[in-house]
Amino acid sequence: MNEPKGKLNGQDLYLGDNGRCFCGSSRCAGQSSYYTGRDLSGQKVMRITYAMVKAEGMNPDKFKCEGCGKGLHAIELVASL
Ligand SMILES: [Zn+2]
Repeated sequence: MNEPKGKLNGQDLYLGDNGRCFCGSSRCAGQSSYYTGRDLSGQKVMRITYAMVKAEGMNPDKFKCEGCGKGLHAIELVASL
């Protein structure tokens, strides 16, 4: 198997163009974002974390992958195992 590895991590959530929220799987992020780390307008997608959202005073429940529905809570749990 020689599949090129993406820039995004399937465990993480990212924000892209127009505040689109998606996880780092190639299916949800889209091939282009997954392999380049940039959204369709060429902007770097921003990785968001539970801690970051809390620090900004925002509600972590508002951030979910539009593709598979993965949320920040679940990701944080996985990360701390
Ligand atoms: Zn997803």
